[in-house]
Amino acid sequence: MSGLKMPAPNSGVLARRAEIARALSAIVPGEGVVSTQDGMRPFETDGLTAYRQMPLVVVLPETTEQVSKVLRYCHENEIPVVPRGSGTSLSGGAIPLEDGVLLAMTRFNRVLEIDYENRAVTVQPGVTNLAVTKAVSEKGFYYAPDPSSQIACSIGGNVAENSGGVHCLKYGLTANNLLGVEIVLISGEVVRLGGKHLDSEGYDLLGLVTGSEGLLGVVTEVTVRILQSPETARAVLFGFDTSEAGGAAVAAIIAAGIIPGGMEMMDRPAIHATEAYVGAGYPLDVEALLIVELDGPKGEVDHLIGEVEKIASACGSVYVRVSQTEAERAAFWLGRKAAFPAVGRLAPDYLCMDGTIPRKTLPQVLAAMREMSVHYGLEVANVFHAGDGNLHPLILYDANIPGQLDKAEAFGADILKLCVKVGGVLTGEHGVGIEKRDLMGEMFDDIDLSHQQRVKCAFDPQHLLNPGKMFPVLHRCAELGRMHVHKGQLPHPDLPRF
Ligand SMILES: Cc1cc2nc3c(=O)[nH]c(=O)nc-3n(C[C@H](O)[C@H](O)[C@H](O)COP(=O)(O)OP(=O)(O)OC[C@H]3O[C@@H](n4cnc5c(N)ncnc54)[C@H](O)[C@@H]3O)c2cc1C
Repeated sequence: MSGLKMPAPNSGVLARRAEIARALSAIVPGEGVVSTQDGMRPFETDGLTAYRQMPLVVVLPETTEQVSKVLRYCHENEIPVVPRGSGTSLSGGAIPLEDGVLLAMTRFNRVLEIDYENRAVTVQPGVTNLAVTKAVSEKGFYYAPDPSSQIACSIGGNVAENSGGVHCLKYGLTANNLLGVEIVLISGEVVRLGGKHLDSEGYDLLGLVTGSEGLLGVVTEVTVRILQSPETARAVLFGFDTSEAGGAAVAAIIAAGIIPGGMEMMDRPAIHATEAYVGAGYPLDVEALLIVELDGPKGEVDHLIGEVEKIASACGSVYVRVSQTEAERAAFWLGRKAAFPAVGRLAPDYLCMDGTIPRKTLPQVLAAMREMSVHYGLEVANVFHAGDGNLHPLILYDANIPGQLDKAEAFGADILKLCVKVGGVLTGEHGVGIEKRDLMGEMFDDIDLSHQQRVKCAFDPQHLLNPGKMFPVLHRCAELGRMHVHKGQLPHPDLPRF
């Protein structure tokens, strides 16, 4: 894997590859273990395709018991494990390790229970996000968090990344819709956290596991809350001559006390790419496009559309179109949800960044991003979960031109540092993975980081679950809190650091 430093592979584990594959085949028989180069090729990367690495071996378990036995075996034999759902992570969380087992959860694909009385659905983690909604839609229910990747991404991956989507502004992220999980610890112990009830005794371990990026345990069952579909939903398109004016409208709508079901923004390059790709009916003569969805009882929705129109007009909107039919509303969203693949047609490669800023700093951040684009000589298309202040700048580059990936990475790092500087955070929903791992120090000092790693140590003292992800430097657990670097002299120089 070029560019990013990963933990040095354990040569002892590499040498035992055939023996390890045999032992794992005894736990997950049939086609449960893939160890040929051709068979493992589809698993060598995830959504962060700039990086790839073949795993030691791929294991496809079907039962919690098999997951437990695989993890216990890896624990006893000091073999790293990388959990994987559908492999759509944009931060490289599911990228394999050369000396690690890739534990692919795709066979965990069953809806286990639909409980309308408690408004809860229990599924296996490999079930896709959209399949949860599909399972309950005939009774007028849905699962609110809706990542753009919902047709493919798994619920287990959503839990691990605390994923969000266009409707999370009003209805919350995965964390706000998750009721319970079953997870298997690296020791093989099976633990249940939460359930259909609203609160649990003791520490909020469910909250801890949500967003833990496969570092604390392997999720084998998920219970989520479902909601009744709103009586009405209508979307409005607003066009602006500048992104700054669009950003001001976003802030003004929230400041007026209106929480839309979704509020998304795209800049000119993203609008043009999307329109050419799916023909959503977007205007092409504006610099920024805002999609605002209002949902609820019909009377309330009609009233709020009027209010939002007044606010957008006061902020300088030059184009307004209100969806008149359900098909038209779906077309507005189809464009937004297709924005990532659409931008993929503008350049051979792009890096999708994910940072969050306080909403009111949007004009300042956009202006700075334009300067960076000139500085690095790379175009950027912007797609925002505007209501949440969550930015997705897509930096366009060509990996075949030497040096362009490095430039794109430096540009991306500058954007994320700026997000932190204006009071935001390094990630909105795509996680840290390997992509933002080395920037964690921009946000947290050594004390913060070592406290976070103590939590990791409590679950996985040998750092076998997804090592090399999320934390810039993994200390050994025994060393935590005692490290003091004086004049560059590292204590414990024998310990592997990367
Ligand atoms: C086109 C596109 C659009 C996207 N849009 C959005 C968006 O709008 N919002 C958003 O939040 N994300 C988005 N994403 C990112 C991605 O889809 C999410 O992060 C998603 O939750 C990942 O799910 P997955 O099943 O693909 O997980 P993977 O990519 O397989 O894994 C992601 C992480 O979760 C861990 N993991 C996976 N399964 C388990 C498990 N069962 N137990 C423990 N750990 C596990 C992995 O180790 C890894 O760290 C998008 C991605 C793409 C490609």
